[in-house]
Amino acid sequence: MVRTNWAGNIAFGARGVHRPADVDGVRRLVAESERVRVLGSGHSFNAIADTTGEQISLAGMAPRVEIDSAASCVTVAGGLRYGDFADLLHAAGFALPTLGSLPHISVAGAVATGTHGSGVHNGSLAASVSGLEMVTADGDLIEIRRGHPDFAGMVVGLGGFGVVTALSLDLVPAFELAQYVYDRLPADEFAEHAQQILAAGYSVSVFTTWRADHLDQVWVKGPRTPDVPGPSWFGARRADAARHPVPGMDARHCTAQLGEPGPWHHRLPHFRMDFTPSTGRELQSEYFVPRENVVAAYRALDTIRDRMAPIVQTCEIRTIAAEPLWLSPAAGRDSAAFHFTWIDDTPAVLALLPTIEDLLDPFAVRPHWGKLFTCEAGTLRARYDHYAEFERLLGQYDPAGKFTNEFLGRYFARP
Ligand SMILES: Cc1cc2nc3c(=O)[nH]c(=O)nc-3n(C[C@H](O)[C@H](O)[C@H](O)COP(=O)(O)OP(=O)(O)OC[C@H]3O[C@@H](n4cnc5c(N)ncnc54)[C@H](O)[C@@H]3O)c2cc1C
Repeated sequence: MVRTNWAGNIAFGARGVHRPADVDGVRRLVAESERVRVLGSGHSFNAIADTTGEQISLAGMAPRVEIDSAASCVTVAGGLRYGDFADLLHAAGFALPTLGSLPHISVAGAVATGTHGSGVHNGSLAASVSGLEMVTADGDLIEIRRGHPDFAGMVVGLGGFGVVTALSLDLVPAFELAQYVYDRLPADEFAEHAQQILAAGYSVSVFTTWRADHLDQVWVKGPRTPDVPGPSWFGARRADAARHPVPGMDARHCTAQLGEPGPWHHRLPHFRMDFTPSTGRELQSEYFVPRENVVAAYRALDTIRDRMAPIVQTCEIRTIAAEPLWLSPAAGRDSAAFHFTWIDDTPAVLALLPTIEDLLDPFAVRPHWGKLFTCEAGTLRARYDHYAEFERLLGQYDPAGKFTNEFLGRYFARP
């Protein structure tokens, strides 16, 4: 049987997938294998999780969730999905500051690729990580904590350092949010007030299909009223019914809107754990630019709207605060990210990506590691301050290249 990623656009070439029951099982498998790669929940859109050797899934391991209330920290098993333990955190009075659009993704896989939500003060999901427990190439179990000289290089590690069996995450006190959607934001209002709009809530997402002279929806996740904008806002109108970000899709898949307050983990993701996230038939790409360039980048993309419109289901603009993690696409700069949910047409998408990347080139664009992109290694190397150090670190922790794969080999030289 052909095994694929969630989207079905990548057929894994791995010889087999193993499901060890515990850390010792992981250690044995890694020590005995020539080539290994961990498969998280398989939500990436490229071959980053593939290998010519063995894939390891941690989904069969004990669902470890240890909350240290005094330290405001939780340690979770790497294979757990955010939706598996968010209720537990909330019940204990804690929250994570940010979540991606879906709770279905594994913690270790999301962190490894720099996955993010939105918010001018929120870093990526990796920004919450304070420690990693990891099985390295020779089967040793190591711990790397914040403050260790290699920590900033290894958190967004692209799966190249070993099998992350557990992660410690910083917690904040549990909080509630209310979510409002605004329809039809005029494009010129966005261009004039983008920074204010993107900072209007705790987490803000602006959606456009590039098919009209307005941006279709703005999702504002904020504390309860009166902090959220009024019913008419920069020419957009507050929606009077629940929305799905993709026009025509069923809003029942989405978290509660219309200002109904609810816990952080039922408002920060757009999609509900018990429903298919997004459309279920799609490809995705995402590009990060410095936040101050968001309007210039929007205008650059606007010049090819007639080429994007036929193949895009929706495009989402979000913000991510700067963070010190070397390979995070938000490393060292407050960022705005242009996410594209494409139709399921690989040739059409791959044909357009180089044009998008050229248009965003003046903004030193960085692609999402878990989505489709065509930038070359030389381009990426110039975009990250610590690229060469990351390569050195890969060679140091995995000298024989046990965890490397075709994807990593394409972008990172080994010393
Ligand atoms: C519908 C949908 C919505 C999405 N929304 C967002 C979004 O809002 N924001 C965003 O930034 N991204 C988003 N993504 C992208 C997604 O978050 C990333 O692709 C993420 O990496 C998925 O996590 P995963 O567990 O499925 O990882 P996988 O795709 O399984 O693996 C990704 C990488 O992580 C490595 N890895 C996984 N587990 C481990 C481990 N235990 N130890 C070491 N390495 C490991 C793998 O080897 C691989 O290199 C979305 C994807 C989908 C399908």
